[in-house]
Amino acid sequence: MYKVVFLGDSLVGKTSLTLRFVQEVFRDVDTTVGAAFFTKTVVLEGSDKEVKLEIWDTAGQERYRSLTPMYYRSADCAIICYDITSQSSFSSAQQWVRELRLVTEDIIVTLCGTKVDLEEDREVEFEESKRYAEDEGLILFETSAKTGENVYKLFQAIAFELSKKE
Ligand code: GDP
Ligand code: MG
Repeated sequence: MYKVVFLGDSLVGKTSLTLRFVQEVFRDVDTTVGAAFFTKTVVLEGSDKEVKLEIWDTAGQERYRSLTPMYYRSADCAIICYDITSQSSFSSAQQWVRELRLVTEDIIVTLCGTKVDLEEDREVEFEESKRYAEDEGLILFETSAKTGENVYKLFQAIAFELSKKE
C-alpha cells in the first residue's frame, strides 16, 4: 500500500480529481483524522501488476495555510496540483515542490495541472510547466476532473513509478 497525498491551493480541484479517480471503485472514506483517504488498486497496463494506493485528500486546511507536515511526511507520492487558469496557483505549486524537497527526497513528486477543459481561460502555458517539470525531474500531467482527461494516465504513471520502489 502506497500513500499518495494531494497538495495545492484551495479550489484548484484536488477533491474533484480524487472523486473522479475513485468514484468507480470507491472503497473507504475516513474524515475523522482531518483528511479523507480512499483506497484504490491500479492495475498496471502491460504487466497486470496491482498497485494499491491510499489516496489522501485534504480537508481544506490549505485554505488556512494550516496543512501540517504530518499530512505528507510519510507519503510515497505527492500530487501537487495547480489550476491552469491561475498563475498564482502555479507559483504555490512550485513552493510546495520546494517544501517537500526540504522534508524528504524519497517521495515521488507529480505536478498536475487541473481544469484543462477551461482552455480559453488558460494562464499557465503548457510549455512553461513542462520546462519547469523537466528541470525539477517531475512527472507532469494536465488533467480535467470534469471531462476525465488524463486522470487515468496520471494514476497509471504514478502507480508505475511506485511499483519501481520496493
Ligand atoms: P479543492 O479545494 O482543491 O479540493 O477544489 P475542488 O475539487 O473543491 O474544486 C474547486 C472548484 O473547481 C469547484 O467549483 C469545482 O467544481 C471546480 N473544478 C474542479 N475541477 C474542475 C475541472 O476539471 N474543470 C472545471 N471546469 N472545474 C473544476
Ligand atoms: Mg478539497
